Amino acid sequence: MHREETNPSTHAVRSVRQRAPVRLSAAIAAAALALAACGPGTGSPGPASGGPAGTGTAGGWQPTGPITIVVPFAAGGPTDTVTRQIAGPMGTALGQQIVVSNVVGAGGTTAAGQVAAAPADGYTVLMHHIGMSTAPTLYPDLGFDPLTSFKTLGLVTEVPMTIVGGSEFAPNTLQELVAHVKANPGTVNYANAGVGAASHLCGLLIEQAIGAELNEVEFEGTGPAMDDLLGNQVDFMCDQTTNTATHITAGTIKAYGITSAERNDALPAVPTTAEGGLADVKVQVWHGLYVPSATPDNVAQALTAALQTALADATVAAEFAKLGTAPVAADQATPAAHTAKLQAEIEVWRPLLEAAEE
Ligand code: ASP
Repeated sequence: MHREETNPSTHAVRSVRQRAPVRLSAAIAAAALALAACGPGTGSPGPASGGPAGTGTAGGWQPTGPITIVVPFAAGGPTDTVTRQIAGPMGTALGQQIVVSNVVGAGGTTAAGQVAAAPADGYTVLMHHIGMSTAPTLYPDLGFDPLTSFKTLGLVTEVPMTIVGGSEFAPNTLQELVAHVKANPGTVNYANAGVGAASHLCGLLIEQAIGAELNEVEFEGTGPAMDDLLGNQVDFMCDQTTNTATHITAGTIKAYGITSAERNDALPAVPTTAEGGLADVKVQVWHGLYVPSATPDNVAQALTAALQTALADATVAAEFAKLGTAPVAADQATPAAHTAKLQAEIEVWRPLLEAAEE
């Protein structure tokens, strides 16, 4: 892919017209450690917070101050949205406020490095997604190991992605999009959230399926990328339904396909990528919570119990449903299921990424 970077102050696209160095992990690790020394970035509370009436927790740990969930992408994007949905009920279960802190950069690896090096006391938690499984292939000098630097707490949700275009972008269907990219190789602006992000992965799948290059435009998350798509500063992107569903329903962006095997109840008019002729563009973005590996078992267990309480909350389920997703089944919101998923996904994506020479 060609890569471009965004000007963070204006979101204007600045072309760099060259492949970005992918293996830049030593610098990222150093930055992560420096950040970790300073503690988490400035955070903002989730949509609701628990009060002192917390009921005590499984594992016997009762936190005595606010807990920070670090989100590895910009505010307003899908990972941020999912985190803020569960932060309130988790905080209530723990009897403490949950603060959401967005630490952006390097496809989510900056935040993961920061949390890996944070105090292992339960007060710093990482929300990450499928990018945790692409990181070890893409960033060989990561500075942390997804499988050993963390304790997994449990999976949160699995979300399909949608291929969506700006209202002024010419193609109206997936077939027209394919023809347009083939006719304009390397020049169609495709927004993503950095190397290793789900949107980056989906872009690679699209390129492989079509056999033509996109011009990749990197953002700090797909929240700001959506702003530029709505403003027609970029042509198209592929992102979780948790970021696209409301805009698709409102008709402010074009929807070309959904990357799941079946159509989605929240978006029944959007054809699957298989229906549109891109059967190989299939991806589900899974999210999970992590703490540093040295976190005591009883603390991790209390956090897992709070996650399970949040996922059983009817309001969370209803809000997720509107956005085309659902809480994972109870037996998936566990460390064992989460670790198994992470291990399996690292192996699923490694060959694709190596073949793409990313
Ligand atoms: N959806 C983004 C991704 O491409 C990240 C985000 O902003 O949540 O991975």
